[in-house]
Amino acid sequence: MKHLYPLTIALLLAAPAAAQHTAPPTPAAVDPRVAALRDAALKDDLAYDIVEGLTTEVGARLAGTDAEARARTWAVAKLTALGFSNVRSEPYRMPVWVRGAEEAEIVAPVPQKLTLTALGNSASTGAGGLTGELVVFSSYVEFANAPSTAVKGKIVYIGNTMQPTQDGSSYGANGTARFTGPALAAQKGAAAIVIRSIGTDAHRLPHTGVTDFPAGVKPIPAAALSTPDATLIERLARRGQPIRLKLLLTPKMIGERESGNVIAEVPGTDPGAGIVLVGGHLDSWDLGTGAIDDASGVAITAAAAKRIMDSGQRPRRTIRVVWFGAEEVGGFGGKAYAQRHGSERHATASESDFGADRVWRFETQLPESAKSVTARLASALAPLGIVHGSGLAGDGTDIEPTVATGVAGIDLNQSGLRYFDTHHTPDDVLERVDPEQLRQNVAAWTTMLAIVANAPEEIGAVPRQ
Ligand code: ZN
Ligand code: ZN
Repeated sequence: MKHLYPLTIALLLAAPAAAQHTAPPTPAAVDPRVAALRDAALKDDLAYDIVEGLTTEVGARLAGTDAEARARTWAVAKLTALGFSNVRSEPYRMPVWVRGAEEAEIVAPVPQKLTLTALGNSASTGAGGLTGELVVFSSYVEFANAPSTAVKGKIVYIGNTMQPTQDGSSYGANGTARFTGPALAAQKGAAAIVIRSIGTDAHRLPHTGVTDFPAGVKPIPAAALSTPDATLIERLARRGQPIRLKLLLTPKMIGERESGNVIAEVPGTDPGAGIVLVGGHLDSWDLGTGAIDDASGVAITAAAAKRIMDSGQRPRRTIRVVWFGAEEVGGFGGKAYAQRHGSERHATASESDFGADRVWRFETQLPESAKSVTARLASALAPLGIVHGSGLAGDGTDIEPTVATGVAGIDLNQSGLRYFDTHHTPDDVLERVDPEQLRQNVAAWTTMLAIVANAPEEIGAVPRQ
């Protein structure tokens, strides 16, 4: 400990000087009605009931499939039974990809079976499978810098070093291997690609997720290996002998099918004040039952809106709950919503699509006229352990097309420290949802809605880049 001493002294000496410049502003008062709604929501059971119902009575609900259609039927019945107004399903059409067989093995130097899963939009190897030499890259950057001659006709492997982060930023940094790695491998002439799963666990459960082959790029077979299988390949590669892999992946595109958004409202008293849009996505990947991604998000936002509806006082602004369809495979629901409702006046947009662990931070992007709303949110959310972040709100695949038109945003960020352990795996099931943390989410969203839907300030457009 001795060597730390001078640093400790320096910090102690520096602290009073810094404090002089950062005296906190006087906190905004918390409306007792908001505090009462917030505290009552900490005993919420509805959100868990929705997650339990959706994962039990519908299960996995891949975009554009019959399972997703069953989820819409279930959602309309549920939201109607809960007493929401204007409950409806709004259809749109989209191209649909479905999974087939998926098997892999190391053929040489040491025969071993591997655990993997196809990425959304992956091509098929054909029923006979595909065997080829593996070229191992430890990172996307290393792969991107490699010449085409190094990978042509071979199977590409891309590793990563994803670590859990509270704000989820490591997903963006490491996810490139999945988002654009397969398209780049196809452009470089590779026969197929396998990546280390974009996840933070060390279990033998691969993480699926969508990949994108832009127009003009012919899709190749693309899959994610579970972390232990990926590290096995890296260990073998360090031993220097050529690795041969056999892949059998038979997913297919089945053409255009119907998907849809499910909408429910708590009507406000002042239609001119704009809609407060909240929601999550109803579709899920097909490996688990989509409990954290994103039954929790649809449940949290509906449960919070229901609390405002049942408070005995109609909100000023209409609260619109949207359970978006087809988020996982390219955000089709969010785009369809913006196309259909973009001309309506929205005050704010917020989505919950980061699991059900505690909300630890909120951020806003509000027009000058509504800056005081942020201070009231800060005071009312502080007892839930939520801090005000310095970033600008408006994140989320489903609301992005709407916020891009200048709609203000308010984000409530869940902790991402556990999220990518089970994200897009067969283990995304009800047991991963912590009821106590789910209740804190409902309390946070109820608080936000109580303040924002009733804010007397004008909430107009914000300039967007
Ligand atoms: Zn999601
Ligand atoms: Zn997802």
